[in-house]
Order: sequence, then structure tokens, then C-alpha cells
Amino acid sequence: DSPVSVTFQASDEKNENILRPQYLEDFQGQKQLKENLSIFIKAARDRSEALDHTFLVGPPGLGKTTLAAIIANEMHSEIRMTSAPALDKPKDLAGILTNVTENSIFFIDEIHRLKPALEEMLYIAMEDFEIDWVIGQGPSARTMRIPLPKFTLVGATTKAGAVSTPLSERFGINCHLEYYDDEELKNIILRSAAILKCKIEDDAASLLAHCSRGTPRIANRLLKRLRDFADILSDGVINTNIVKHGLTKLGIDSNGLERQDRNILKTIIDFYDGGPVGADTLSISVGEAVETLEDFYEPYLIQQGYLKRTPRGRCVTAKAYELLGINIEGRKNA
Ligand code: ADP
Repeated sequence: DSPVSVTFQASDEKNENILRPQYLEDFQGQKQLKENLSIFIKAARDRSEALDHTFLVGPPGLGKTTLAAIIANEMHSEIRMTSAPALDKPKDLAGILTNVTENSIFFIDEIHRLKPALEEMLYIAMEDFEIDWVIGQGPSARTMRIPLPKFTLVGATTKAGAVSTPLSERFGINCHLEYYDDEELKNIILRSAAILKCKIEDDAASLLAHCSRGTPRIANRLLKRLRDFADILSDGVINTNIVKHGLTKLGIDSNGLERQDRNILKTIIDFYDGGPVGADTLSISVGEAVETLEDFYEPYLIQQGYLKRTPRGRCVTAKAYELLGINIEGRKNA
């Protein structure tokens, strides 16, 4: 009966699309960002111009891909979607760029993982709407300049710091997505429940919202799992008992933290006296890829005040000792 560990990575994308809002008005939360974007979109549309290149920054599952698709819908334009790791050679990127249409959206996810040669091609394309293409080899090689239609690059990243300055400077619109509050998540849960035709009681939706790590993707995933519990163990209605039972079985506590979250905090306390400890060392100790640790686990633990990033490494806070029921003074004197 040990709890199943749930990692919420992009791998389980199946069915995610039906829950994606299509237009800005259905997109919950991120109020200021939405307000600004709707003005920029309307202005571009009224001028029949392409929207400026747009940079979306934020932890996984907060709605970057969803927003890219919304931008295309609101602009009444086409969208092509790819992810930087899928672009291997310059010709992969050139192939897409030479096929984009006027005023359309080109979305690159995980743009911080773009290879340098491709990155260079991209920022020339963004700035001058052309690419330099080398034909032939050796002394007979020559460069051909290929003009491109005016398009909008929407680049998404979980790590703004890992994107080079020349690239990030070429985005005219910068959007930082924040974790969602309980009320916004509750609205997302109720909307998703309606789409999935699953019944959830109001206070159960509030409780689930509170345990969803501020993240819509997690809220939606948990909703689907709780629907399973409700269908099999009860009458199909998700009530607070089902939420509590289901989350316990999934290893999620009343603060919305997963087993690995608590394990990370406990490891720093038990093995590194509360820190500081570097990301590489910590990643080995907890058996998690550095990327997942830095992009998924840490941002939420930091936002919730359990963890601090210092120049010398990660340190837990007094709140983490409290969460785990460990006496901080006892530790220090030991
Ligand atoms: P990201 O690209 O940032 O990892 P996604 O755009 O794939 O995140 O969003 C994950 C899921 O969360 C999507 O299925 C979408 O339905 C839902 N979602 C994200 N943001 C919102 C929002 N603001 N309102 C409603 N649903 C959202």
C-alpha cells in the first residue's frame, strides 16, 4: 500500500489538449499579463501586422504552450509548434522558417536548449526576417540570403537565465508566468471538471486547488486521478473525503508537496546540515536529474519559503524544519 510517486512531466500529454483554453477570456489568472497581451494583440491585429516576438517564462505546467496557441487564435493566424531539443541541424530550423506564413506564429518550447548555430540563425531571422544559407562546400561555397515573411516567434522557457542575451533581447514582449493562487486553480478545476463531465463538490475543488502546487497541469492531472478514485471507491462524486484519501495514496500532503519535495528538504537537513549544498550534489543524493530539480521541484519550494538559493548553494529554511517536524535548535546543538 505504499504511495505511488507522481512526477508531473510533459510525457503524459495525452488528453491535455481538450482542457486547454482556446481564447484569452478562458485563460484563468495571470491578470496583468493577460491584460497587456490582449492590448498588444489587438494593436497588431488592427494594424494587420505580426505581433512582436514574445517570450514566455515560467515553471512547467503554468500555461506557456496554452498561451502560444491562444495568441495564434486571437491573432486569427496559423501556429507551428516545435521544441528546441527536436531541432538538431541548421536545416531543421531553416526548413520551418522558410515555410512560415505572413503574421503566423512559430512556437519554440524549451528555447534555452537551442544549439548555438541554430540560435544564431534564429536571431537573425527574428531581427531581419531573413536567413543566410550556405550552399556548397570549400572554396566554391557561397552564402544565399533567403527572405522570410514577417512572423512572430513565441519562445518558451523554464530558465530565462539560460537564454543568451542576443536572443532574449530580440523579444519585444516579455511574459513571466506566476504560480496560480487557490482561487484561480479552483476555477481551472471546475472548468476542467465540466469538460470531463465529472462531478466535484465545491469544498473538494477548494481543497484540491490548495494541493495542486500552484500549477494548472497538476490540478488537471490530480482531478483525473481523483475521478478514478471516486468512480471506483464511491459514487463517482469527488468530495473532500475522496480528495484526502486520493492525495494520501498519491503521496501528496496537505500542503500539496510530493514525497520527492519532502525528500529533497530532508536530504539537505540530514546530510548537509540544512545546506548550503550545490545542485549537482543534491541531484545525486535525491536521485533526480539536475534539470528536474532546478526547473520543477526547486521553484515551488522556494516560492513557498521552504528553500533558499544562495551563492554557495541551496539552504532549507526554518519553515522546512517545521514541516518535517524536526527541531532546528536540537540539530544545531547536536
Ligand atoms: P507549459 O507549456 O507552461 O508547461 P501548458 O500550457 O502545457 O503548460 O499547460 C498545462 C495544462 O494546464 C494545459 O492542459 C492547460 O489546459 C492547463 N492550463 C494552463 N494554464 C491555464 C490557465 N491559465 N487556465 C486554464 N488552464 C490552464
